[in-house]
Amino acid sequence: MFFMMSIFPKEEQLYFEQYCVCNSCGREGEITVFKVSQTLSLFFIPVWRWSTRYYARMSCCGTTVELDPEVGKGIEEGDITYLDPSIFPYRNDSVCPACGHEIKPEDNYCPHCGRRL
Ligand SMILES: [Zn+2]
Ligand SMILES: [Zn+2]
Repeated sequence: MFFMMSIFPKEEQLYFEQYCVCNSCGREGEITVFKVSQTLSLFFIPVWRWSTRYYARMSCCGTTVELDPEVGKGIEEGDITYLDPSIFPYRNDSVCPACGHEIKPEDNYCPHCGRRL
């Protein structure tokens, strides 16, 4: 017996619309929510899905965070229509991403650890 079997992650965008000021880059952006599930296909027909994960992404800078599965489910079912923008990590441009040392906008290299900025 020969089966055509394949496993691949399937990305599905959920219906979710929210505009807010981005916590990461400070610009106006839209939050999009999508879920990724591992899908097993038999003869190109998806038969089984597991390990579904939910993600939220800011349209402005592409910052993506994983959502709590409960929250993701709530969005999928339409129970949750608002996400706190602070779930996106705050990116402070005035510190070095490598060592946290204070840097100036005109610096090309971190004066502390020498990392290229
Ligand atoms: Zn942003
Ligand atoms: Zn540094």
